[in-house]
Parts: sequence; C-alpha cells; structure tokens
Amino acid sequence: MKDIFEFGPGRADGDGTQKQVLGGKGAGLAEMCLLGLPVPPGFTIATTVCPRYHAVGRRVPKDVMAGVRKAVARLEKALGRGFGDPKRPLLLSVRSGAAVSMPGMMDTVLNLGLSAPCVAGLAAMSGSARFAQDSRRRFLQMFGNVVAGVPHDAYEHALSAVKQKVGARIDTDLDAAALSEVVARYQEVYRQHVGSPFPEDPFAQLEHAISAVFGSWESDRAVKYRKIHAIMGLVGTAVTVQAMVFGNLGVTSGTGVAFTRDPSTGENRFYGEFLMNAQGEDVVAGIRTPEPIEDLAKESPAAYRELLAIRGLLERHYRDMQDVEFTIEDGRLYMLQTRRGKRTAAAAVRAAFEMANEGLISREEAVSRVEPAQVDQLLHPSFDPDAKRDVIARGLPASPGAVTGRVVFTAEEAERRGLAGEKVILVRNETSPEDIGGMHAAEGILTATGGMTSHAAVVARGMGKCCVAGAGTVRIDAAAERFAVGDVVVKALDVISLDGTAGEVMRGEVATVPPGITREFETILAWASAIKRLGVRTNGDTPRDAKTARAFGAEGIGLCRTEHMFFEGDRITAVREMILAETLEARKAALEKLRPMQRHDFEGIFQAMEGTPVTIRLLDPPLHEFLPHEPDAVRTVAASLGVPEAAVRERARRLHEMNPMLGHRGCRLGITFPEIYEMQVRAIYEAAAAETKAKRPVKPEVMIPLVGTEKEFTILRDRLRTVAAETLAKAKVSMPIVFGTMIEVPRAALRAEGIAKEAEFFSFGTNDLTQMTFGYSRDDAGSFLPAYVELGILPQDPFQSLDQEGVGELIRMAVERGRKGRPGLKVGICGEHGGDAKSIDFCHRAGLDYVSCSPFRVPVARIAAAHAAMAERGGPAKPAARKSKVAAKTTGGKKPAAKAKPAAKAKPAPKTKPAPKPKASKPARKKSAPLRARR
Ligand code: PEP
Ligand code: MG
Repeated sequence: MKDIFEFGPGRADGDGTQKQVLGGKGAGLAEMCLLGLPVPPGFTIATTVCPRYHAVGRRVPKDVMAGVRKAVARLEKALGRGFGDPKRPLLLSVRSGAAVSMPGMMDTVLNLGLSAPCVAGLAAMSGSARFAQDSRRRFLQMFGNVVAGVPHDAYEHALSAVKQKVGARIDTDLDAAALSEVVARYQEVYRQHVGSPFPEDPFAQLEHAISAVFGSWESDRAVKYRKIHAIMGLVGTAVTVQAMVFGNLGVTSGTGVAFTRDPSTGENRFYGEFLMNAQGEDVVAGIRTPEPIEDLAKESPAAYRELLAIRGLLERHYRDMQDVEFTIEDGRLYMLQTRRGKRTAAAAVRAAFEMANEGLISREEAVSRVEPAQVDQLLHPSFDPDAKRDVIARGLPASPGAVTGRVVFTAEEAERRGLAGEKVILVRNETSPEDIGGMHAAEGILTATGGMTSHAAVVARGMGKCCVAGAGTVRIDAAAERFAVGDVVVKALDVISLDGTAGEVMRGEVATVPPGITREFETILAWASAIKRLGVRTNGDTPRDAKTARAFGAEGIGLCRTEHMFFEGDRITAVREMILAETLEARKAALEKLRPMQRHDFEGIFQAMEGTPVTIRLLDPPLHEFLPHEPDAVRTVAASLGVPEAAVRERARRLHEMNPMLGHRGCRLGITFPEIYEMQVRAIYEAAAAETKAKRPVKPEVMIPLVGTEKEFTILRDRLRTVAAETLAKAKVSMPIVFGTMIEVPRAALRAEGIAKEAEFFSFGTNDLTQMTFGYSRDDAGSFLPAYVELGILPQDPFQSLDQEGVGELIRMAVERGRKGRPGLKVGICGEHGGDAKSIDFCHRAGLDYVSCSPFRVPVARIAAAHAAMAERGGPAKPAARKSKVAAKTTGGKKPAAKAKPAAKAKPAPKTKPAPKPKASKPARKKSAPLRARR
C-alpha cells in the first residue's frame, strides 16, 4: 500500500475518488491537478498511516519519513528551491484532511521550514523584509501552539508588549524591525514553555508537524466532533504537505473561501469572501471580517475572472456544490482546496432541485443529496412576520433558524445549561474548535466578528444551528458577563432571539409561526416517493395529527393509540369511572359515555385520511395510568360514581402494579375486561359505517396490542369480529373487517407463523420489542444507556435507532415466519424507529411493507425510504452521459462530466405553503408518569 501520493500541475498519483485514502483535502487537490487547475505542488500522506502512527506510540513511522524526504527532494527540484536553504527557502504548509470534512477540528502548520537562517532569503525573494519577519513570527506562533502546546495568550502577550512599545495600534502597523523583536520574544516564549530552544532543523519541524496533525485526530475536540456528527468507520486523517503560496505578500495578494452556490439558501450564485494581504487562517478564524467575493473583481480582476471560470468548471465536474479555498500571490491565483460544500437543509433542497432542473444531476441524485437528518430543519418554525421585533443588532445571516434563549458567554456554560434542558444562546467574539460542545448544546450562536465562512458560520450550518455572525456593533465583555450594543446592555441569562435568515438579534422572545414547505421541497419529496418502495404511514391519534401527516404525504395511519383520546377535555372522568367501576353494569355505563366520543374522533380521523388505511390499536396501557392521584380528581370521580372518596382510593390502590409495563396491559386487558374492547370496536365500525353512508371512503384496520400467544389473538379476534359484523349489519353497511396484531413481545416474533395464520397484518411495536428483547425498561433506561453508549457497549441508544443485530434479527425472523404462515402478509413498523433513517433502511432490507412515524417525521421517512431503495440498487441513477466540454478542455477527456436531459423546465420562484403547526415536543418518559408523558 502506497503511503505518499504526490501531486503537481497537471499530474497526481491519486484522484478525487480516493477520499478514504487521501482524505477530502488530498483527494480534492489531486483532482484539481488532473483538471489542470493552478494548484501548488505537494504530497499527501495517506490516512492509513494515521492508525500506524497511533499504534507505535504516536510516532511517524521511519519508512514514512524516508518517503517524505524523497517527496520533499522532488518538490525542491520542481520549484528550484531548497528546504532549509537560506537563499531560496522552500516553505511548506502541513494540513489535516480526513475522508469526511471536520472543519477546524484538526491541526495545521503554515510557513514550515522558515528557520532563522532562511528569513533573509525569504526577504530577498519576496523583496520585503517585513513580510519575511511577519511570516517567521506567524510560523513560530503556529508551530509553538500546535506542536508544542504553547498557549495562544503567551504569544498574544508578547505581541501586545511590542505593539505598545513602538506605539502600534494594529498588527499591520508593525514594521520589519518591530516584527523582528516580536520574533525574538516568541523564541523566548517557546524556550520558557517547552524548556528547549525552537527547533530550527526543517526536517525535525516537518516530522513534528506531521506528528501533530496525526495526533490531532484523537484530540478531544476532534473526538467530540465525530461523536456529535456520528462520523464512524474512518481510519484517521491524511496529512497534506504543500508548497506555500502567500496571500500576505502585499496588496496584490490575498486569500479567500467561496462556495459555488449560496450554502445558506442554495441560490445559484457565487458566494464567498476574501481578504487582501492576509493568510488563509485570518479568514477562517473570523478574526478580521472579510469582503464579499464580488468585490474581488475590483481588487484583482484577472484572478476573479479565473476564479469564476473555475467555479463553473468545478460544479460541472463534481456535479455538486463545492466549497473552495484560494490564495492570490502577487496577482496569481492558486487553488488550495475543493470539497463538497456543507449546506443548510434549505440550501440542500434548493440546490438539488435546481441542479436536477439544470440537467446537472438526475432526480434520484437530487433526492440522495437531501439528508434525512437535515429534513428536520426544514420543519422548524420561523418568526412570525407580524410579531413585534426589538432588533438591537444586525449581523450576517450565517445559518438560518429562529431561536430564543438565554445568553451565555462560554461554551462550557452553554454545554452545562444546554444539557440540563435550558435553551441558551452562545454569544462570542468568534468561536474556535474548542467550542464545539457548547455550540452543539446551544439553540443558536451569535458572534461579533467573522464572516459567512468563519468557524462559527461553517460549523453552525453543518449542525443545522441558527447563527448570526459578525454582528459588529455587539461589544462583548466576557469577564463582566454582558454585551452592549450602543446603550443597550444585555447581561448573562437575559433572553434574546436570533433570526439566522435575516441576521437579526432581538431582545426578548419573538412569536413564531409554523414552517412553510417550499415548492422545491415538495417536488423533491414527490421524487422521493416515486423512488421508494416502503409505504410511509403516520402514528396519529387525533384528526389534527391525521391532517398534519396527510399534508406531509402520509399514506395511511399505522398506529392510532386510542387511549390518547381519553385525555381530551373532561373525558378522563368517564375513563376513570370505567376503571373504578365495581360492577359490570357500572363499567358498561361508563363505557357508553365514551363510545360516542370515540366514534366522533374516528370519524374525524377517517375524513382526514381520505380513504387511506387507518390502523386503530385497541386500549394498551395499564389501567392504573388513568387513575386519579390528586385529591381534586379523586373527589370528582367519587362524586360522579356516587361512592365515597375512600372507595376510589382503595380501588386505585388495588390496581397498583409492581411492573406495570409487564403487567395488566395490552390484550390482557381485552381478555379480562372484554367490554372495553367491544366498546372500541363498536365505535370504530359505527364511525366507518357513518362515513360510508356519507359516501366517504374508509379503510379501518383493527390492531390488537401486546399479543404473545395465538390463543390471545383468536379469542379476542373472534369475539370482536362478531361485534364488528353486528355493528355493520345494524347500519346496513358492508366492508372488509380486518384484524391484525402488533409484534411487541419476543414470543410473538417466535410464534409468528402461527399468529400470522390468524392475523391479517403485523405491525412491529419496536418500543416494547426493544424493551422486552434487551430487558431494559424503556422508562428507566436513561440512567444507564448513556454510559453504555459512551463505553461502546452499544453503538447507540436502541430506543432511538433500531438494534439491527438483536431486535432486528427477531424482526427478520418474524417477517419470514409470518409470511410462511400467511403468504403476502402485510408488515409494518410503528415504534419510534419508524422515523429513524437508519432503522428505515433496515426495514426496507427486511422486506417490510411500510413504516409509520409521527407526523413531523413523515417527510424524513419519505426521503430515508427513497435512500434505502437507491442504496439497495447500488446508488442513485446518474443522468444520461453527455460529452463534457470541461473534461475535454482540461483533462483531455478524463472522467467526462455528465448531463441529463433536463428533468423539468425550471419553474418560477418558489412559494411556500404553510405546513401544519408542530405539536410541542412530548416530554421524556418517566416511570409512573401520566400516560400522556409516557409516550
Ligand atoms: C411500541 O411498543 O413500539 C408501540 C408502538 O407501542 P407503545 O409505544 O404505545 O407501547
Ligand atoms: Mg407498545
């Protein structure tokens, strides 16, 4: 296996397909070389060296260093310079780059090789003694900080001291002599912190820097970043060593970053920023606020024109939005990076839609470009345009969103409060990679400096977090824990709101409105539906849920938990009467009060679902969950039952169970209290009959929960089928009567063949199936599951993403056995996993017919189901190939870019259609919490 891959103008050992080996940066550079773009030459040390480095105790293997020496020798020859040569020094950049981009998480060293004896040579070559001293001091600082861990502050201190001494206000006021003093002080800082002089041998520097980059793969912040973004399965980072080009060589030099389309909105416009007379880190670090890319046309017109041409070429070549870094050295443009641009959900949707319409990508590719996890972002509310806004500052609309929270000034505090469930907004001058945890925990991020491509902006967009960056009027006094904008002072824990789309900072809370679905998103969802095989249903308990889900494209209801209706209005009193009744008559009387209410709800749901299947589950939870606990509730029930309060309390005491989730619930209730299920079935078919008479189509399916034996099912089914038939006969309506069951108990999965002979459909209740397969209480697992995930005992919380090995094995087996018992058995899933992308992929492969999830996850499920179908076929179909002008011009035909026949004519500007209002998220389940909170 090759360890070192060289590249230079027009040639490269690797190419853009080799991200796993070269890392994103190395692969992008190789590909750009092959495309004939101006790229400074260099080489990439493969990612596969990273685990070797760690395995031998954080040492760059000897054979790798030998290869590095040879590669450097070839660079010297190609450029006519010498590494460590005092006259014509070759300077290098050393950068990280894993297969998946992790912006700012790993280390970089610039100007490497600029040892003391080389400074004069650099001054002569560049014609600027000031530039040479400035480069040297930057190198000392970066190397000292990255390689030897010397704190930033120590260098900043030394710099400030010199600035003060010579009366300089800003860094650029320092002349060569002053900078040479800074250099001397920096060398002293190094000696003091490290205990030895700064290493001047260039190969020693290079080995240290390579080592630091490999080492940074395991740094806390990189590990945390991978965890937050669920980046798994990578061997490590590559290290790219490249000849330096200088953006800080004077006013004809500069550096910048740009996206081929707007990464916030997806609009097809060149989008980026630059700084003249600066090095790349100045832009990304957000320390100086850069200029918009259009202004480069004035500053460096030729470079700008070339950059525009490269923008088009890269997009056509990669057929995706790219994020590029460039440097202009004395008017000459150099490309330093190209990679897939991170984008917001809105941008992903719009860019995918437009690229398909431009014929750049196929519809399948367009769907594959929208990540299921991102879709959630599109369904978040935005601020009400009519609400009053107390705008105190404006910044850049760095990452969209509408959030409100309490101000905090440190990432640690954001993390602490955020994890405790508080909504906070992290306010910083700029963010740095160390802040990653706090950014993740915060609702939104506000920075006073930095541009659209600053660390805060890039990372926030990657996370789907709202961010307003570079709000220049915000003056932060972190020590005093407050910030001021003019006369307005905002203290720690004051509430502010951020509008990441408008770039506004507001005092207090601002009212929100439900999200809008753009026409582009609707189109992408329609394309997804045409690709997917799995049906997507919803878990909905009310007509409102049903309407929401229908608007999102649900093809039916996979689970209607009837008990949720019991809490509407004052129904709970009738429910309690039913539970607490001591005689059958009393219970029946209470049930009779509930029947019309249930029937009315079913009618509403049937209407909202417009003739699509509606699976209604009969009562499931343990009865004690409905019991009155508060004195007021006890009094009310006692009065309506006409019994003393003590009798109510006594009955409640008798209903108490030690393990309610394994107790008297599900079909066990139906067996022991047949009248409850009978009332429910009567209500279902009365509603169905009424709808049919009103000429509205209905398709009810009755689902019996928690079945473990065939007998439980057949006893209930036979009894209830009679009730259903009688109800329909009475109404003089006929329709199929369908009874199925949930598979939630491992025994049911084992006995699936026999059960399927009786049941007409299965729906996996994977919440309970996970609980009972692992033996983890779904209400109590929060106390140990995080530790299990942390320790790697489990890869993730199995209640969030299906345990494919264990619970999944039971599902696969039950599907197979079930279809043996009843060929063509319809099988779905209605546990929480039905809305999780990875679990949906599993369900597709396991041969399920549909997934069912909460209404707001329906769009996510449609996209995930389409992805699963495409993954099974080996990926999305490409558009029909066309001859690429790009490739012909630049590579003599290597890898022609492709074009499809336009998918559809580009349509006018999108309109948004209001989506239904999201329900407040349900609180986490708690043991013996009321039912509503439990599910
Ligand atoms: C399940 O167990 O997966 C299920 C859907 O039922 P519930 O969550 O209501 O127990
Ligand atoms: Mg269940």
